[in-house]
Amino acid sequence: MVLRVAVPVPLPQLFDYLPPPGIAAHAIARGTRVSVPFGRSRSVGIVVDACAISEIPAARLKPIAAVLDPAPLLSDELMATLEWTARYYQHPLGEVLDTALPATLRRPRPLPSDGEAALTLTISATFAVTKSGSASARLLELLRGGPAAYSKLDAQFPDWRSAAANLRRRGLIETIRIDATTPPPVCITPPPLTGEQGAAVAAIAAESGKFAPFALDGITGSGKTEVYLALAAPALARGEQVLVLVPEIGLTPQLLRRFRERLAAPVHALHSDLADGERTRAWLAAARGESCVVLGTRSAVFVPLPRAGLIVVDEEHDTSYKQQDGLRYHARDLALVRGKALNVPVVLGSATPSLETLANVEAGRYRHLHLSSRPGAARMPAVRTIDLRSKRLADGLAPELIAGIRDCLARGEQALLFRNRRGYAPVLMCRACGWHAACARCDKPLTWHRGEARLRCHHCGAQQRVPDQCPDCGQPGLAPQGLGTERMEEALAGLFPRAPIVRIDRETARGKGAVENLLNSIAPDQPGILVGTQMLAKGHDLPNLTFVGLIGVDAGLFSADFRASERLCQLIVQVSGRAGRALKPGQVWLQTHHPDHPLLRDLLKFGYAQVARELLVERREAGLPPYAHLALLRAEAKTPTAVEEFLAAAADVAQSPKDLSLRGPMPAPMPRRAGSHRGQLLLSADERKALHAFLSPWLARVRELRQARRVRWSIDVDPVDLY
Ligand SMILES: [Zn+2]
Ligand SMILES: [Zn+2]
Repeated sequence: MVLRVAVPVPLPQLFDYLPPPGIAAHAIARGTRVSVPFGRSRSVGIVVDACAISEIPAARLKPIAAVLDPAPLLSDELMATLEWTARYYQHPLGEVLDTALPATLRRPRPLPSDGEAALTLTISATFAVTKSGSASARLLELLRGGPAAYSKLDAQFPDWRSAAANLRRRGLIETIRIDATTPPPVCITPPPLTGEQGAAVAAIAAESGKFAPFALDGITGSGKTEVYLALAAPALARGEQVLVLVPEIGLTPQLLRRFRERLAAPVHALHSDLADGERTRAWLAAARGESCVVLGTRSAVFVPLPRAGLIVVDEEHDTSYKQQDGLRYHARDLALVRGKALNVPVVLGSATPSLETLANVEAGRYRHLHLSSRPGAARMPAVRTIDLRSKRLADGLAPELIAGIRDCLARGEQALLFRNRRGYAPVLMCRACGWHAACARCDKPLTWHRGEARLRCHHCGAQQRVPDQCPDCGQPGLAPQGLGTERMEEALAGLFPRAPIVRIDRETARGKGAVENLLNSIAPDQPGILVGTQMLAKGHDLPNLTFVGLIGVDAGLFSADFRASERLCQLIVQVSGRAGRALKPGQVWLQTHHPDHPLLRDLLKFGYAQVARELLVERREAGLPPYAHLALLRAEAKTPTAVEEFLAAAADVAQSPKDLSLRGPMPAPMPRRAGSHRGQLLLSADERKALHAFLSPWLARVRELRQARRVRWSIDVDPVDLY
């Protein structure tokens, strides 16, 4: 008997090994981690199955070096789902398994010991004197009550890590392991559910123990989280597990706190910002079947759930659920695959459901639940446009917008200005000759980051010094063109010198809890201005926020990307929804040069649901997803010829496929990035089956192509963007 092992290498096949001496092959179950010799080194693989015959001559078969788990780490359900994932996304199983496991478990070591990292006082702490009121003093005080788990500190003391670093340096505290967390007692009574919330909870709860997909379509601020909480509580009481996926790490602290305050069960975070140890502990707790909530981003969809009760995908329309490199999976779609395998309801929540989800509702595959009002007195604000044609603008801001912000601040309330471009200006240009700074590796303009005095390429990350004079004509005084968040912040500071202004974009909000810390820097009951990119579009309840301005969204009206209209509408609705979430009414203004554009007009007049219906009709007529199924073969290389030759050869071995169309070779929408030339082939089929029947044999031929060795290529099944 030989064991067939998936090893994390970019090859589609499994590898055969002999069982280690003294152990029978059938004693090593499917889903067990093993350490195997691979090439000149060792690798951690997963046993997929055992078979009697190997194609490898017996003399060349090597034995497994070590069996790492006493029992399989991955359940049958998870193994089957991961095999499905490998087939569906045409990705090597070894790499799929590797994506699914936390980093610690990919190393050739036995499972880490149980228990959670906790801080405790050392003997020296008894005599320590610390400035009272400081963060260090507060942390010391808290620890005098006994050791505290990291997760508890995260919940009670958001900035404990810097205080801990200080105390650790002074030898006053140390890290120990304590038993798995006992959840804190529930300290908040839930608000009464609205009629619609109650109906949604009842409809979903009635399907518990069965696979049943729901689209929970609730306007921003309608309390979708209350529905999740009301469903989670009884599931946990039955000893079940609840998986909640969220699109952004930035959203997890607020949600974690809310779940922990309300549920008498452990709530584990699972995302890439966590230390490896914490991540592994959460993963293993779930694998042991402990009744708990796992709240995580995309990759948490692979967490083991032996006692699954419910899966929730919050903000299901968000494109960050799609992984854009390596294994290009879509976590929302996999959540449904798992829900089916685990026999549990899957709730897809959004104020702006994706067209994919709406098409599934239309086809009767998902049940549609509505939350059409905000609880209590909160009302949805209306969005009004500011016609920018023939208007002179001060730093890109229309007079109506400036007046609106002024009134808002005068009322002691907060304003949010949305602009989806970070940096000071998207272009730096010479007024004399028209030269502009461009990335030599991408052929795209460089963004001027004034504060850092750098020009940066937002496509490849290249950066350079800002020239003092035009490199072409030698004239001094290069001028910024256009408006980034940094320039808006400066303009607003000039207009409203006394208001606190916080900018939130990838530049200012780096690292753990950064968005939250920035938001907390404006007192909740004080006036202030938030400026930022789409990081500001989601989550975060800001009760004193009553004014929203959207700036520079016109580009989305004319993009070549067929999903641009859908995304623009989602963005406008999501950003607008930040306003007026509590008792105070909100106002939303949108600056545009195209107030009569049918998409904008219909969105503002009839709302997202109507526009989504229109967009679905357009997609159906154009033969585009969700009514067609796409796969994109991307290639890049140092020369355009290598790309063209590879794609032409790949198209050639497709041998005029049946029931699907193949377009290309064509240049990628961005034909050069980071110095590489890029091209693609687009496959489209009306039936998913036809596409999948074609892909696997075709890619086997593509892999064999001589031209494939000269390019980097990848396949993207169900691409969310064609770039
Ligand atoms: Zn010039
Ligand atoms: Zn570049």
